[in-house]
Amino acid sequence: QDASDRATASQPAQTTDGVHVAVYANCGSVEEAEAAASLGAEGSGLVRTEFLFLERRDAPDEEEQLRVYQRIATALAGRPVAIRTLDIGGDKPIPYLPLPREENPALGLRGLRTSLWRPDLLRAQLRAMLRVQPAEHVRVLLPMVTDLDDVRAVRSVLDEERASLGVAAAPKLGVMIETPASALLADQLVREVDFLSVGTNDLSQYALALDRGHAELAPRLDGLHPAVLRLIATASAAATAAGREIAVCGGLGSDPDAIPILLGLGIRELSVVAGAVPRVKRIVRGLSEAACRSLATEALAQTSARAVRELVQAKTLGT
Ligand code: PEP
Ligand code: MG
Repeated sequence: QDASDRATASQPAQTTDGVHVAVYANCGSVEEAEAAASLGAEGSGLVRTEFLFLERRDAPDEEEQLRVYQRIATALAGRPVAIRTLDIGGDKPIPYLPLPREENPALGLRGLRTSLWRPDLLRAQLRAMLRVQPAEHVRVLLPMVTDLDDVRAVRSVLDEERASLGVAAAPKLGVMIETPASALLADQLVREVDFLSVGTNDLSQYALALDRGHAELAPRLDGLHPAVLRLIATASAAATAAGREIAVCGGLGSDPDAIPILLGLGIRELSVVAGAVPRVKRIVRGLSEAACRSLATEALAQTSARAVRELVQAKTLGT
């Protein structure tokens, strides 16, 4: 199937009843961005910038970041690119960023909190993003947001750096929906951001209070749990009501059982590992959006992730 998936990968993916689903790639290096372009990705819904900050003695400066972000944007040749600000914390120590020792790193200084704690790093990163050309394709994505205060704090830094660089147009600003708080408050967030992107890996971890890195428990972490699906449904409904884009960029977006449910919940953009783009497009082409909608309604009423998986597997969703 791989060969035939690849042959059709450059074509957009539509459901059998004509609904377009954009398939983007997550990128953690320039090479992945190049692979994404050749595998038919319509852009990048998530550039994980951590790769540039790990395993080195000092932080990359604005110029170095600009060079790398520019290469990623160039590889994706005018397609939209959502560059995420640094998502780092106590679990991934970096020598030049000594974080206080924490009992619960997953609940401590990580993601955007780390950036706001070290605004010098945030400023350099935002300046590099603002300088990438063509600017209209670059989007700024914020990890580990809980509420509008987070957005406002970044917006003011972004506006200051934009003024200092003489950049007239504000880039699209979006937030990861990966804390239960952000999903529940999505109706408020969409008033001040341009797009949402659901990080199902962390959203599942925080909703189910189950460490995604736990050696024994992590295999039980399933984003198809109805509690997680209800959070995604809440965020999706808020985005749709406000006319804002909402994507899924966590691992659930490439899970064949999850794709029909996500479409049924109103998701129209999936960002997945580059290698999965052709397969995800093929899966979308085999689904009817109308059938996905009724499936999603039933999924929300299930009592466990296992029951949701059994439900999906028992259905034929084409036609
Ligand atoms: C997520 O949490 O689902 C996500 C996409 O971000 P990361 O995996 O980088 O934490
Ligand atoms: Mg995450």
